[in-house]
Amino acid sequence: MIVLGIESTAHTFSVAILDNKTVLSNEKSVFTTEKGGMIPVKVAEHHNKIKDNVLKKALEKANIKLHDIELVSFSQGPGLAPALIVGRDFAEEIADDLNVPIIGVNHCIAHLEIGRMLFPSCKDPALLYVSGANTQVIAYDGGKYRIFGETLDMGIGNFLDSFARFIGIGFPGGPEIEKLAKKGKEYIELPYCVKGMDVNFGGILTNVKQKYNSGKHKLTDLAYSIQETVFAMLIEVSERAMAHCEKNELLLGGGVACNKRLQEMAKIMCKDRDAKCFIPENQFLVDNAAMIGWLGLLMYKAGVRTKDIDIRPYERTDDVDVKWR
Ligand code: AMP
Ligand code: MG
Repeated sequence: MIVLGIESTAHTFSVAILDNKTVLSNEKSVFTTEKGGMIPVKVAEHHNKIKDNVLKKALEKANIKLHDIELVSFSQGPGLAPALIVGRDFAEEIADDLNVPIIGVNHCIAHLEIGRMLFPSCKDPALLYVSGANTQVIAYDGGKYRIFGETLDMGIGNFLDSFARFIGIGFPGGPEIEKLAKKGKEYIELPYCVKGMDVNFGGILTNVKQKYNSGKHKLTDLAYSIQETVFAMLIEVSERAMAHCEKNELLLGGGVACNKRLQEMAKIMCKDRDAKCFIPENQFLVDNAAMIGWLGLLMYKAGVRTKDIDIRPYERTDDVDVKWR
């Protein structure tokens, strides 16, 4: 079955084409800003402007004609409402034109399901999902995907980007901080904010801004210490979730999981507890439409039909009925 996936929850607009498990194309265009954060309406303007072009590239790369598409899958939530609407309307238009079914999927669960598709031995993982807006540990339990730990304030990516913006090194900040951190040598003690299964970053952000302003520390050492501290927090809650849910597989997802130091820490923790660690290549870690197409296909084959295609900006992972497992 040939499926078209459309992703538009946040800054990334992506279109992918899959022939069952084979990803034929996975094209995207990312909204960026020099200054300030993401203004939802501006993100939607970006998506509207580039959507036809991204679709065209995805079709060309896959060597597929639009009328070969048999199912259209779109990310229904959670995300920024104006951005979600662009993807939903685009999906609806294509599905109507072609007279094929349309299916709406949960973005967070898509990050987990693409990992299970890419790695056949990844059967029942805990997902450490670390992106701009989201920071969650998700695992399958009692018939649902549930959240076993999450941020109580901002997402880890937003935390890294906020600090980067504060010190004027541009957006996205995560990769820049990673480069600086590689040159850091001295560990500077920072607040460590784990509360049970959850984490928070607001206090650390205030603290590192103060340390930066004091002029007493090298930026490279600060970047290094930020990574060591916040990644240790993430790995600690992941390990606790794995122990609690009795999972012996860890899967990474989200843009921050592109970070090599976080990947290294995840592998060390898994080795220590005899668990397997699965890390998709970057194109499947960041927001992408391949995962949306794949989850749509899984759900469709399990008999799920989307009647209500309203966007779901605040949908929670455990709101979703998992009929395909
Ligand atoms: P996503 O929302 O999943 O598309 O991920 C975007 C976030 O990933 C942004 O906050 C980036 O700063 C962050 N990011 C991307 N690459 C890296 C990296 N190498 N290290 C840390 N964060 C990263
Ligand atoms: Mg994401």
